[in-house]
Amino acid sequence: MSDKAFNPFVMAQMQFDKAAEFLNLDEGTRELLRNPMREYHFSIPVHMDDGKIKIFRGFRVQHNDSRGPGKGGIRFHPQETVDTVRALSMWMTWKCSVVDIPLGGSKGGVICDPHNLSAREQEQICRGWIRQLARNVGPNTDVPAPDVMTNAQHMLWMLDEYETIYGEKMPGLITGKPVGMGGSLGRTEATGYGVIYTLREALRDMGIKPDQTTASVQGFGNVAQYAIRLYQQIGGKVTCVSCWDQNDQKSYSFKKSSGVDPNALLTITDRFGGIEKTKASDMGYEILPGEAWIEQDVDILIPSAIENQITGDNVNKIHKNVKIIAEGANGPTTPEADKVIHERGIFVIPDFLANAGGVTCSYFEQVQSNMNYFWEKDEVLGKLDVKMTAAFHAVKDLADKRKLYMRDAAYLVAVSRVAQACKDRGWV
Ligand code: GLU
Repeated sequence: MSDKAFNPFVMAQMQFDKAAEFLNLDEGTRELLRNPMREYHFSIPVHMDDGKIKIFRGFRVQHNDSRGPGKGGIRFHPQETVDTVRALSMWMTWKCSVVDIPLGGSKGGVICDPHNLSAREQEQICRGWIRQLARNVGPNTDVPAPDVMTNAQHMLWMLDEYETIYGEKMPGLITGKPVGMGGSLGRTEATGYGVIYTLREALRDMGIKPDQTTASVQGFGNVAQYAIRLYQQIGGKVTCVSCWDQNDQKSYSFKKSSGVDPNALLTITDRFGGIEKTKASDMGYEILPGEAWIEQDVDILIPSAIENQITGDNVNKIHKNVKIIAEGANGPTTPEADKVIHERGIFVIPDFLANAGGVTCSYFEQVQSNMNYFWEKDEVLGKLDVKMTAAFHAVKDLADKRKLYMRDAAYLVAVSRVAQACKDRGWV
């Protein structure tokens, strides 16, 4: 089977089964953890600007809440499927566990394309999503957040609808809110910065100086933009970034050997991370096919777009000089590709460890919202660095001790904590 059409939920279950085998988990625990505990599927009717009614399909999947309330983003995507949301909810459980925050795993989605929706139509989708789930999410049950193509404004509309239904203020319902409206300073930077905190530790362990490295990045959304910035601050050079073109909606790679300039690129980027390729060309970028980011002669690859990007079909294009893959996206590498990467000895910082900075900062936001007392940005980012660094070393130490691939070690750390919580609660 070509893994191009790989089902992410099948992939998440395969990864879990491997960890369950390593940990010798009993049958009941395996069955509990390889499926979500609850899921909701529903319709959201929207009165469109042209007067017609359009029905959007929405989901919320709650994989496991043994360690605390469910936590996870809501994606707006035209190709959203419930299996993708299931996989992502499971990865959220492992993500919260690997950074050791008291939260479980959930994920939500709506099949829609915000590119083709007015602000008013998007607001209706957000309010409709919350109306469908008002009894099933909450500050102590399941706490949503932004994800692919959703942002702070979407979160605030959802919070407003929830507070209207319940008649009281509950800012702990949702994270990723605008700063000044219950949001945490540093949340925007957190996921991308977290990727680089773990990358910095990996480089230190390998005895490589960041200022002697180059990287190629897939994506130019929130995660990629801040990963590029912090990587540059520690001395690294990004020579290629890939993303889609605003006009033809196709993916391209933008190469500049002297180093990409995220500030300049941002001036020609829309709010979904799409670039105008003709303007990029005017800025001196070489425009290459979408997949060219993967074959660059660099030390580090940072896939920071969406799932299923490094596959059996393109994994062999990875340049022989690549030493590290830091997975900013959720599930960017299929199992077939992962096997090749493992065999080649490339050091992988697996997705749910590398990109856990977002949810870790969400946890800080939840704490601040519930206390109604907000920290300075340096304090937030300092605490984030401590958490990410500790999580990286917990995984790396286990990988060294038991001679494991980093992804397997991350799974062992995360799954064992969740299995223990289920056991301690008397569920299994
Ligand atoms: N959507 C982000 C993720 O995949 C953050 C989730 C959250 O903050 O709850 O990790």
